[in-house]
Amino acid sequence: MVNKIIKIIGFIILIIVLTVFTQVGGLVLLATIPTFHLVNKKLEKGVKRKIVKPLIFIAFYLFVTFLIVPLLAKPFGRVPMPVYGNANLKPLNIFTCILNRHYVRPKLRQSLEDVAEKMERNYPGTVIAYLDANFPFIYKFPLYPHLSHSDGKKIDLAFFYIDSSTKVQLNKSAPSFIGYGVYEDPQKGETNMPKQCAKLGYWQYSYLHYFVPQWKKDDMIFDQKRTKQLILLLVNDQRIGKMFIEPHLKERMKLSSKKIRFHGCNAVRHDDHIHVQIK
Ligand SMILES: [Zn+2]
Repeated sequence: MVNKIIKIIGFIILIIVLTVFTQVGGLVLLATIPTFHLVNKKLEKGVKRKIVKPLIFIAFYLFVTFLIVPLLAKPFGRVPMPVYGNANLKPLNIFTCILNRHYVRPKLRQSLEDVAEKMERNYPGTVIAYLDANFPFIYKFPLYPHLSHSDGKKIDLAFFYIDSSTKVQLNKSAPSFIGYGVYEDPQKGETNMPKQCAKLGYWQYSYLHYFVPQWKKDDMIFDQKRTKQLILLLVNDQRIGKMFIEPHLKERMKLSSKKIRFHGCNAVRHDDHIHVQIK
């Protein structure tokens, strides 16, 4: 009896976790239950069952994620960002797409595709790497931990980097494997919002730093030239409403557009990525 209750609670927690991180994963798991009953009938209790059930869920989840969700999201006004279809615009980490976190309004995708094309003209071979965008369904359904990424209008982009030993321009590559949490810190004399926000008691401002491995930080140099070019192309795009980066990087890159704003101490640091949103 107790065992059964623990099992049910565990299952409910799993559904909540899948919903929070993938939006549709919890529903997919519920839809997979009938096949679990079938497995129970066909297979003896034991290791085989424990392997087969997760495999069925993963296969069904991937099928739904890549073939069904894009079709269903369209009537809700959201489209997936290109996964492999655009040579100049790709996810930094494929898990962004596997977890359904790459959905945007068609206008935002078009804007980024146009910017990617212009980047290619300026710096041939350059790939803009995107990070978290929005989930496919439901207006105001938050994409944890970016609570504002809930209306299809927002996306984060990775900075560009240079290999510190070969000085080669890197693409689809960042010192943090998730694109967040390895910072391009303020230099001497620059505005230091991380320090100021910490002083004001905003403990969460730099918290990702403690969870994300930092060992690649010295292998890559912030590519100021290409990152500035990307930001300028976004600034000049009429569809883009505003962007967030840390004030010290705005100063360093000599950017003055009013579209580039400070996000406030109650957000997190933006010296690891650019937040972009359409009007
Ligand atoms: Zn963002």
